[in-house]
Amino acid sequence: MHLSLYDTLNREKRPFVPLDPANVRMYVCGPTVYDFAHIGNARPVIVFDVLFRLLRHLYGADHVKYVRNITDVEDKINDRAARDFPGLPLNEAIRKVTELTEKQFHDDVDALGCLRPTVEPRATEHIAEMRTIIDKLVQGGFAYVAEDHVLFSPQAMNAANSILPRYGTLANRSLDEMIAGARVDVAPYKRDATDFVLWKPSKPGEPSWPSPSGIKAEGRPGWHVECSAMAWKHLGEQFDIHGGGIDLVFPHHENELAQSCCAFHESRMANVWMHNGFLQVEGDKMSKSLGNFVTIRDLLADWPGEVLRLNMLKTHYRSPIDWTLKGVEESAKTLDDWYWVAADVKGERPSDAVVEALSDDLNTPQMIALLHSLRNNAASGNDRDRSEFAASLRFLGFLSESAAQWKSRKQQASGIDMKKVDSLISDRTAARARKDFKESDRIRDELAAMGVVIKDSKEGTTWEIAR
Ligand code: AMP
Ligand code: ZN
Repeated sequence: MHLSLYDTLNREKRPFVPLDPANVRMYVCGPTVYDFAHIGNARPVIVFDVLFRLLRHLYGADHVKYVRNITDVEDKINDRAARDFPGLPLNEAIRKVTELTEKQFHDDVDALGCLRPTVEPRATEHIAEMRTIIDKLVQGGFAYVAEDHVLFSPQAMNAANSILPRYGTLANRSLDEMIAGARVDVAPYKRDATDFVLWKPSKPGEPSWPSPSGIKAEGRPGWHVECSAMAWKHLGEQFDIHGGGIDLVFPHHENELAQSCCAFHESRMANVWMHNGFLQVEGDKMSKSLGNFVTIRDLLADWPGEVLRLNMLKTHYRSPIDWTLKGVEESAKTLDDWYWVAADVKGERPSDAVVEALSDDLNTPQMIALLHSLRNNAASGNDRDRSEFAASLRFLGFLSESAAQWKSRKQQASGIDMKKVDSLISDRTAARARKDFKESDRIRDELAAMGVVIKDSKEGTTWEIAR
């Protein structure tokens, strides 16, 4: 079976050759944890989960390492923490926000049938590696210290006469054009408009860490260097696949690539750069800032996660998706039928044709067409046909429930407004944080009246339907 993948950097589909087939390594940029993830955020999670499953199938489960980070230091997190927990010291409030959001994210993507990555590093646990990279960049002449900031200089990178790639190659933009098009109101500490931040001072009360050499005051890292550091720590100076949404190509991935190549004197960071296309909802662009985003949680209130997963995979990962209610309804019908045909069937080996379709740059539309014909074989054929169909579905992250569970869960989910439950629980958490126990008890009673039992633990509050 030959795997080929489209590489954003070389702009072509190429045969995939791992650096070390006994240790295939993939890094995907993960969530910034301050709010519920939206259905657009679910796309890279599902797409790269399918790739992870395929790689495990091709190279062996123990020979694939998938790293997806958690960005737990960022302005938006600080703002949310100050808003939600005004009575707490900022650092404590931040920890509450990131822990709660991380748990919500895990619950959501588990429900979407995604395997957990091999490692999920947190940015705040890799500050030492970030400082090391920054020091290397300064020593190499690619970065400089100015007014307690450290800035990376793309122009210094491109002036270096060496094996380094040219800045702008990934995004297919020329540095000269970027310089010409740069904004006029550039921060005064930057030598050139295209320089970007590796390290910056923290405001009083904000999270801060000892700074790289040459800066006395404590500070915090820029976003791009976080991923360079975590990828380096867990996957080495070079690895096989780097993924994320198409919006990350520039500046995030261009900058990651620049930092890592310059720090380690390498010609490349990853062998293959993969990017999923954007998701829009009912024909409209979705964005957190416009406030029209649909969270995974909202959708899970109405649909089993596997329905959302199937709906996502109907479109090839590099094309844009228009997420519509009609599409989700069709996916639900398909899965009801698949459960009916195969739910309680034991499966051994997924179909070769399915694996082959995925091996062609994750051709999931073709894979789904194949599943429909496997379904027909299974419905009219023998035990082998049914086993092949069931095994193919499980390999792809479907059929995690029995036929009976599938039916009863669908009924339950329709009875309770999960969105309301989540919003009441977060109100209650806030009430408890400000020691308003009267209000928190009242909310607990309101939830009980809805048939919802809540449980508090160190990790946060979970709920279940009262039996
Ligand atoms: P963010 O939390 O915005 O950094 O996004 C996390 C991941 O979701 C990144 O890989 C983004 O590229 C991806 N992403 C964000 N919005 C969308 C969208 N509307 N469609 C597809 N992917 C998205
Ligand atoms: Zn990243």
